[in-house]
Amino acid sequence: MLTDPEPLSVSFANTLSSSLRDRIGTLEEFRGWTKNWPTLQPLADRLTAAGLGSLLERRDATQSVLHAVADGRKPSAAAFALATDAGLEAAPFRLRPTAGGAAVGRVPPLEAISHLLARSTVDLLLSPQAAGLRRCEGTDCRKVFAGTRANRRWCDTRVCGNRARVAAHARRHS
Ligand SMILES: [Zn+2]
Repeated sequence: MLTDPEPLSVSFANTLSSSLRDRIGTLEEFRGWTKNWPTLQPLADRLTAAGLGSLLERRDATQSVLHAVADGRKPSAAAFALATDAGLEAAPFRLRPTAGGAAVGRVPPLEAISHLLARSTVDLLLSPQAAGLRRCEGTDCRKVFAGTRANRRWCDTRVCGNRARVAAHARRHS
């Protein structure tokens, strides 16, 4: 269940959810992640393991940019370029309408996925949501979210919020 639908760029950045947890570390995991993104999924099905490495570099750069934006810092120029440049180039495909969405057809998957992901980061940076980006306060959590509520502190209250409550409880009783 999607309780708080998030922009594609945020979902992509959040796949590195902690220093130890990469949710798209393998090609199978990457394909699993695209199940929520119908335009990406058929492309991911044709992606090879060789293409995944470059997407992971772009993901790390995207996360670094979104962290900087959430912290009110200027992102590094190198990370910013890696996260956005492909989205500013002319699309290497035409978008075709499908029932309930859009598809890009049988184009080279790595180029198309790179373009769409970078483009989602460009769109996010241009949107009012950029000013509301926040980082989760959970210990070692790397997730960001678009601040839908001013007092939101956690990516997920059942995970990071609950962990913090348990830690605070342990501190009080030790
Ligand atoms: Zn979190």
